[in-house]
Amino acid sequence: MIVGILAFHGDFAEHHQVLQSMKIRSLEVRTVEDLHCVTHLILPGGESTVMSKFLESTGAGKEIQKRVSNGSFAVYGTCAGAILLAKKVTGKHAPRALGLLDITVERNAYGTQAQSFEEEISIKGIRTPLRVAFIRAPKITKVGTNVEVLAKHNGDPILVKQGRMLAGTFHPEVRADEAVHTMFLRM
Ligand code: GLN
Repeated sequence: MIVGILAFHGDFAEHHQVLQSMKIRSLEVRTVEDLHCVTHLILPGGESTVMSKFLESTGAGKEIQKRVSNGSFAVYGTCAGAILLAKKVTGKHAPRALGLLDITVERNAYGTQAQSFEEEISIKGIRTPLRVAFIRAPKITKVGTNVEVLAKHNGDPILVKQGRMLAGTFHPEVRADEAVHTMFLRM
């Protein structure tokens, strides 16, 4: 198992640290060739608009679409990463997403950086509640019938799963929590 972390921009280093403490091999992914070496892929938080441009210019986006569609790897998107996986993105400056996961996501739905917050959440399949960060987080405003909601905050889905894709609007990696990564690696 080698877990790729998309490393154009954003908090890929924090994901690397979590995987390192779990003793899981990881690789910073910047090219299509890098994608060929990994069994799993994490799309980190950051600016979805910036990442979507790199996905397009490097061809990595097309390769991710191909690998997800043929089921040959599992993907986990956190925050901006969840935006990138979505079928539909709303809000100002919505980036062109990969359109893989049957959800609609609204960018910056809680407001500006000042409205970022931490919250204790419960996740289906994880025994203890986690304290996680929502940083200029998006909201999942619509989920398809084939999408399973694993966690909610104030009634809104915040962690969802469809096949071998996992998407969360929060950051477990900021507090170095391993539980969501463990769940992902079992997919
Ligand atoms: N607001 C960012 C975006 O829309 C996401 C923020 C994050 O990943 N923490 O791309």
